[in-house]
Amino acid sequence: QTAAEPEQLTDGMHYLAEALLANGVKHMYGVVGIPVTDFARIAQARGIRFVGMRHEADAGNAAAAEGFLTQFPGFYLTVSAPGFLNGLASLKEATENGWPCVMLAGSSVRHTVDLQEGEYEGLDQRAYAVPFAKDAFRIDKIEDIPLGVERAIRIALAGRPGGVYVDLPDDLMGQTLPIGQAKALLVPATHLAPAMPAAQASIDEALELLASAKNPWVLIGKGAAYAQAEDEVRAFIDATGLPYQPMSMAKGLIPDDDPHCTASCRGLAMRTADVVLVIGARLNWMLNYGKGKHWNPDVKFIQIDIDEEEIGSARPIACPVIGDIKTVMAQMNAGLAKHPVHASQAWLDQLAADTAKNNARFAGKETADTVPMDHFNALGAVNRVLAKNPDVYLTNDGANTLDDCRDIVQMKLPRHRLDCGTWGVMGVATPYAIGAAVATGKHVLSISGDSAYGFAGMEVETACRFHLPITFMVLNNGGIYRGDFEDLGTSGDPSPLTLDATAHYEKLGEAFGAKGYYATTPADVESMLTEALALDGPSFIHVQLSIHSGKESGHIGDLNPKPLFGPL
Ligand code: ADP
Ligand code: MG
Repeated sequence: QTAAEPEQLTDGMHYLAEALLANGVKHMYGVVGIPVTDFARIAQARGIRFVGMRHEADAGNAAAAEGFLTQFPGFYLTVSAPGFLNGLASLKEATENGWPCVMLAGSSVRHTVDLQEGEYEGLDQRAYAVPFAKDAFRIDKIEDIPLGVERAIRIALAGRPGGVYVDLPDDLMGQTLPIGQAKALLVPATHLAPAMPAAQASIDEALELLASAKNPWVLIGKGAAYAQAEDEVRAFIDATGLPYQPMSMAKGLIPDDDPHCTASCRGLAMRTADVVLVIGARLNWMLNYGKGKHWNPDVKFIQIDIDEEEIGSARPIACPVIGDIKTVMAQMNAGLAKHPVHASQAWLDQLAADTAKNNARFAGKETADTVPMDHFNALGAVNRVLAKNPDVYLTNDGANTLDDCRDIVQMKLPRHRLDCGTWGVMGVATPYAIGAAVATGKHVLSISGDSAYGFAGMEVETACRFHLPITFMVLNNGGIYRGDFEDLGTSGDPSPLTLDATAHYEKLGEAFGAKGYYATTPADVESMLTEALALDGPSFIHVQLSIHSGKESGHIGDLNPKPLFGPL
């Protein structure tokens, strides 16, 4: 009798790729190197689309965008220590935004790292990841790969979603396992983020409170967008006629031109609403913590959130409703027959009058022919083009470029606007555009200020290499906030805020094969953007603004500390 045939083996890299595929992972963003290069090659060969990027933070942001758009974690891959550290910032940003993503990072051999022997790129990465992640794991044994992948996905999606870290020591990559055993262990994750109804008692309590209100207002946040609750939220607004305010990334959940939208009278609504239904938004800095001079002192809040620990974070909540927004809003709609809810006509009239007044104040600014352009007429031109192309995804960063774009560019479809988010992060528009283009296959318009663009500008090469349908647009006013600040001393150097107002950013796109445009008038913006959106590949439009356009810190100048003494 001869010896038995040697058993067929798999190794860590192949098995990890198989585990990702078995769980439905379709894309991975990343920057390869020791010890994950072959893993990326194998994953690509097996059918995972690998989008090689130029910086790990960008890979993380692209993955986070995919997570927000698809309700399934985006995946990204980094090398050990330096690549890992670069990737941590976006892991934390995704977690702050409540967007699911998974960061996979190669790491150096455990025992030499742990004894501090001076290993190549030696770092106790899991420990470093913990405060930046929703959860952090290390997979030490090949047979644990399916469990590690399943836990990462489940936890990224559970409750309030977030970023999960998975550490892949390089000796894991080379471990082996008999294929039969590997197949048997490979059970994909199921029952992810199950629908969570709220207790009926809290639904009734919420509806009773709303029904008792004179000035009930609805605040819709990006949690509702993530939850894909547009049909239920829309039905609620249609049935009740309540005025509502979309937070930045909830724009388009209900089309912005809906008459119930309070975008033009938000301040008045905050000062006069008596009961506010918060749907997937946090009462954080963006909403003045739900208290203080901007709010009616007697306002009561109903807050729908998946995370009960969010309740009361900044002020008392009269009626918490804990559950998944899509399920909860269906429950709310079902309860409306028993508890009819509406706003007083006097309040609706007051809001409508304020809207008309404020709209009149801005009328003409978006259609002005003034050259050099300012943010208003440049973005007014963008808005006219997007009105005809509502299915284009919009990513946006900058200060004035962010604030004015949010105000001017109307969204018609849910989850079509991705921007600086909860932390106000610069440099996200470009990688979010890559993630959105890869995840949806749709055209993306990425609008950045000239400073914000600089943080991830090299990713234009990624977009060109993958021939992604992205139009990059840089609004150049020559600096951080604007370009007319001067050195207050005698250095003769540019001010800390100054950047190059005479640059031609479109040439960055041309360098890698994108079609470039240089726009100096609103008519240019309109015609060039129209043409660019019709291309199936990348394009780059430089929009030349006046260096005087823009306000310091955009619309959040009140957060900027001012010196109390000395000259400025
Ligand atoms: P915005 O910045 O638009 O105000 P936030 O990110 O502050 O929105 O708030 C979103 C909220 O939505 C978070 O508190 C999060 O826990 C919650 N959330 C996310 N997904 C769901 C869901 N499926 N159901 C209920 N709440 C959710
Ligand atoms: Mg918020």
